[in-house]
Formats: sequence, structure tokens, C-alpha cells
Amino acid sequence: MPRIQIINTGTELMLGRVLNTHQQWLCRQLADHGYLVQRQIAVADTGEAIVNAVRDSLAQAEVVITTGGLGPTSDDLTRDLVAQLLGRQLTTDERVLRHIEQYFLSRRRPQPESTKVQALVPEGATVLMNAFGTAPGLILEIPPHQFNPTDRTAWLIMLPGPPRELRPMFSDQVLPQVTRRFPLPSTYVCRTLRTTGMGESKLEEAIAQPLKALTDAGLELGYCARMGEVDVRVSACGPHASTLVASAEKMIRALLAQYIYTAEEESLEQVVVRLLTKRQQTLAVAESCTGGCLAHRLTNVPGASAVFWGGWITYANTAKLQELGVSAATLETLGAVSEPTAQTMAEGARAGADADYALAITGIAGPAGGSPEKPVGTVFIGLATRTKTVVVQQLNQMDRETFKYVTTQQALELLRRELLAEQVTPA
Ligand code: ATP
Ligand code: MG
Repeated sequence: MPRIQIINTGTELMLGRVLNTHQQWLCRQLADHGYLVQRQIAVADTGEAIVNAVRDSLAQAEVVITTGGLGPTSDDLTRDLVAQLLGRQLTTDERVLRHIEQYFLSRRRPQPESTKVQALVPEGATVLMNAFGTAPGLILEIPPHQFNPTDRTAWLIMLPGPPRELRPMFSDQVLPQVTRRFPLPSTYVCRTLRTTGMGESKLEEAIAQPLKALTDAGLELGYCARMGEVDVRVSACGPHASTLVASAEKMIRALLAQYIYTAEEESLEQVVVRLLTKRQQTLAVAESCTGGCLAHRLTNVPGASAVFWGGWITYANTAKLQELGVSAATLETLGAVSEPTAQTMAEGARAGADADYALAITGIAGPAGGSPEKPVGTVFIGLATRTKTVVVQQLNQMDRETFKYVTTQQALELLRRELLAEQVTPA
């Protein structure tokens, strides 16, 4: 197993202006493929800090990954500093130069002269073309003994800072090379089952004991709780890895059943859009307290236009009344946050859009507005289909943004389960 270290550069990280998501994302990608990161360090964009970090890491590790500082501005120093440290000339790479020109041409933007420095490449570097930006990534072979006292060659992998550039570059170009160059001593198999609707502790209660024989036999079982969902990760090494992981997955699927929404790299909204697309059905939404978060999540999915009709953000009572037909009597006697309101919102949206399904959300996000009968966090989620309407009540007591996300997660899950149930028992 190669020793891997990550160096995140950027003064903005030190100032707390940018969250260091590269650290988490890269560690996760590597771990999912069986590679553990030995050390991670974040440093400011100063020459000394970057050079010291790279020198230290090259003395200790076989794979050193740097992020950031490959751009065209005066604080982007990584490329120059590394070339100097390694004693390598920088020369213009014509292919990169043309790529940068093309990048601006196709966007109909003038090319700033400064962007040309990004085509400078240290001698002997492998260039990783940047499909989503201008600065290429670089891989440099560091010979034994230059920094590391051992006889092993090291790799210095330099990646651009913007996440939308770094992530595809790492997944498509770096990871395949790392797995080829540093094959793991034994087979490593990993599987992540993504669940929603059950808390982390309850989930552990449900599966840890039944899986004990497998964990005793070497299966690694891990949980990762995120907003509105928990990932269950099973992995194993060695000749029996596949069998162990397959048995574990089978057991977990039997135990958690419909709580698992995917075993792929896809979000709940992607799953919902995928299911609706397959069935050629449409969805409309009516949102109050989530203020468009549900529509936002759905429209994040490429291809959503085939299934997502659109919807209403009916925040005020009058909007619910005028746009979706919630009666003044209901609003007055039962309130905007009530089962009948959610029901009428869902039915009104479905009928108004002539969609196959409509999801409606009404609730009290807080911090004010709660009452003993309807405390802050109370939410009613309605789902109208062409034949029926169901309303579920939830209690989501959290800050407003988390509240929106978790509530829309529950709404998407309500629809996903309906779609699956219909699949099993066609009407
Ligand atoms: P650019 O060409 O945009 O200047 P770069 O390779 O020079 O790219 P940086 O200037 O270091 O990279 O960072 C560019 C942007 O990428 C930062 O403003 C920040 O928003 C984001 N970024 C950088 N490092 C990280 C990180 N560790 N985690 C999350 N985002 C980051
Ligand atoms: Mg920069």
C-alpha cells in the first residue's frame, strides 16, 4: 500500500473563507478504492509553506497530491515553486496552450494574457487535461533519493483548486493511474448502500448483530450519517473479499429493505427522476416552508425536464388559497400547517399541472411559530397520484436550511416508495 499524503493549498482555507472539501472528497475516493491517506495538511499560499509541505511529504510518501494554486493569478504559486524545488525547467506545452485558447473562444470571451502561464509545464511531467477549466493537472515522477531516503519512486500529483475541475480530473485521470501504478496487495472490495428514513443508531441496531459473523471474518462495516441519510459501507480485503461483501450486502438488503434507495453513486433526487423517466410520468410540486428546495433538487438532475413539470411556491395563506384551492375555512380552522392543507395543495398542484404525481409540503420551520399542538418542526407532506392522496406528518427540529433539506428528502422518499410499490403491484 503506497503512503499517500494530501497537501491542500490556499490562504482562503486558512482564513476559513472556503471549506476544505477536497480533503474529505479525495480521502473518500481513495478509501473507496482501498487506499488510505496517511496525512493531510493544509497550507497558505505562501512560497515557504508550500515548498516545505511538498518537501516533507515527498520525504515520507510515495504519492503526494497537491490541490490549488495552478491558476493564472499572482497567488497561484504551486507550479512555479514545485518546478524550482525539483530543479526542472518550465516549458510551454502547445496542446495545453491551444486548449486554453479554445476554452475562451468557445465561451466567446477574450483570453487574458495571464492565462498563458497555465500552459507552462515542468520537464517530464504528465499533463492531465482539464475538461472543465484551463489549468491542467500535472503528475511528476520523483526519482528515489531526491527527497525520499528509500529506493522507491514517488509521484507528485498536482490538481487545480476548483472542485468542478478537480473532481472529474481525479476520477477520470488520476485514480485509474494510481490503481495501475500502485496495485493493492490483495483484492479490495467495497460497497456503499445509501439509506434514508432511519437514524444512524437505529440502523446500527438493525444490522450490526446479524452481521457479526461476517465482521468477525474480516468484513469492515461503517456508517456515515449525512443530512437526511445514512450510508452503510461494507468492505473487505483478501481472497474472500467479494464473497464477504456480497453476503453482507444480501443480509443488509434483507434487513433494511426499502430504506435503501441506491447502491450507486446517485442522489435520492436522481433516483426519483430516473424512476419517473422510465415510467414516462410527470411530477409537479407545491412548496410552502421549503421555498423551492424540492424544485431546486429536482432540477439539479440532468434530464429532469422530461419528468418535472414545475410547481408553486405558496408561502402565504392567500397563495395557497388562490393558487391551489385551499379553502379559507381550512386555513382558518385547521391552519396552513395541517393535513387537509397538504392534501389540497397536492391535489391542486396535480390537477393544475395535469401531472401523474404532485408533492406538497407545508410546515413550521421555526424558530418562531410553534404551538403545543404543532411544535416548531411540524411538517405535513402530501403526495397526490391520479387515484389517491396520502399525507404524512413529520417532526424535523433543526435549523432552517437543514430543515428544508431533510423535509425535501422525506418528500422525495415518499414518492420513491410509491413508485416502487406501484411497480410491485400494478393497478
Ligand atoms: P484558479 O484557476 O481558479 O485560480 P487554482 O488551481 O489556482 O484555480 P485556487 O486558486 O487555489 O486553485 O482555488 C480556486 C478556487 O477553488 C478557490 O477559490 C476555492 O473556491 C476552490 N478551492 C480551492 N481549494 C479548495 C479546497 N481545498 N476545498 C474546496 N474548495 C477549494
Ligand atoms: Mg487560483
